[in-house]
Amino acid sequence: MSRVLVIGCGGVAAVAIRKCCQASEIFTDLCIASRTVSKCEALAKSLESKTKTKITTAKVNADNVEEVIELINSYKPDLVMNIALPYQDLTIMDACLACGVNYMDTANYEPEDTDNPEWRAIYEKRCKESGFSAYFDYSWQWAYRDKFKNAGLTALLGCGFDPGVTQAYCAYAKKHEFDTIDTIDILDCNGGDHGYPFATNFNPEVNLREVSAPGSYWENGHWVEIPAMSIKREYNFDSVGQKDMYLLHHEEIESLALNIPEVRRIRFFMTFGQSYLTHMKCLEDVGMLSTTPINFEGHEIVPIKFLKALLPDPASLGPRTHGKTNIGCIFTGKKDGKDKSYYIYNVCDHQECYKEVESQAISYTTGVPAMCGAMMLLTGKWNKAGVFNVEEFDPDPFLDALEKYGLPKKESRDPVLVE
Ligand code: NDP
Repeated sequence: MSRVLVIGCGGVAAVAIRKCCQASEIFTDLCIASRTVSKCEALAKSLESKTKTKITTAKVNADNVEEVIELINSYKPDLVMNIALPYQDLTIMDACLACGVNYMDTANYEPEDTDNPEWRAIYEKRCKESGFSAYFDYSWQWAYRDKFKNAGLTALLGCGFDPGVTQAYCAYAKKHEFDTIDTIDILDCNGGDHGYPFATNFNPEVNLREVSAPGSYWENGHWVEIPAMSIKREYNFDSVGQKDMYLLHHEEIESLALNIPEVRRIRFFMTFGQSYLTHMKCLEDVGMLSTTPINFEGHEIVPIKFLKALLPDPASLGPRTHGKTNIGCIFTGKKDGKDKSYYIYNVCDHQECYKEVESQAISYTTGVPAMCGAMMLLTGKWNKAGVFNVEEFDPDPFLDALEKYGLPKKESRDPVLVE
């Protein structure tokens, strides 16, 4: 028996909510809240006759702490699932602390306004000290560790696929396969085709900000930063085939470097087709990825927000996306004094996802882990006070839940390594 407040009702949230409704013995009561309440109502209505979970809806602007506090106090949830945008992480964490409720999200904090001078000063100091220049980093949310610990509450950060399952794979490898891990390569392959010349699979603004940033990896105790898309490898993915992949900065590298300190190198690669890269470069070159407002015919517009309005809604890609995703981690290290390598990954089919929850596989592979992470917190399988990343919890019950709810693992003990 539990009451859960889900903030956000986009592509990922819709999957997480549909999956929660498949486990109505745990998710007995669910409130779906976002700024556009009509979207929440439409989803609630579509699930009405299909689940025993009692669903209500609410309007909330999660940029406003007071509004979130008021909603939490009136609904009295056991857990708040933040599946809105990274911009709302801190306001929702503040509201959870004020109301004494557990918190979780799927992406680490990033400010909406990267021109804010107060934020910029802290960001520039962090760039110099840490050595990577992505706009997002964990320092903002890790700063809440003592507050959550002292309040006896849990905040679970980044519980999607990557970040999320990839870290559970690391914890699993450490627990069952290795005494010490030497290298981790996280490989995110989307072999799906939606038929558009250019579209993003999750929120376009967050996605384009992430992939247009300089790449970086962790090596010998520090960050190595490289120009965006300047390290390319080819890899032959199970069930997908040969793909080009590029080294990106990614948030889970930061927490894995901290939580698996013996690791010598951690890299993250994502596959991109040439059409995506050409479009992105062109949009970047003409200034369409900029987050700085410009004046256009008397109106202030933010170029990347305008671009978002032009691009297909990721939630609409479901019916037209065919093919598979393959996301996982390749490890090298030692077991019983011997060198070994190990690959753990999931393959997910876009059309199978659409048949089940009316969504493409990117939202599916994020929404299912969010639901399984919520289940870990609600059933007490993950139960400690403080702010935690996924690899800090026991991976076994989580991977069991993923297996049961649609994201089974595949393994290889003789993988082709990435050069
Ligand atoms: P969408 O843009 O589809 O959905 C975002 C939702 O948040 C919308 O329902 C929007 O509704 C709501 N929202 C935005 N601002 C506010 C606000 N101020 N107050 C209340 N609600 C708000 O995004 P996705 O579903 O694609 O992505 C959701 C999250 O998942 C993002 O944080 C993304 O980074 C993360 N993600 C994580 C991945 C992982 O593997 N870990 C992979 C993919 C995505 P409205 O505008 O009506 O309020």
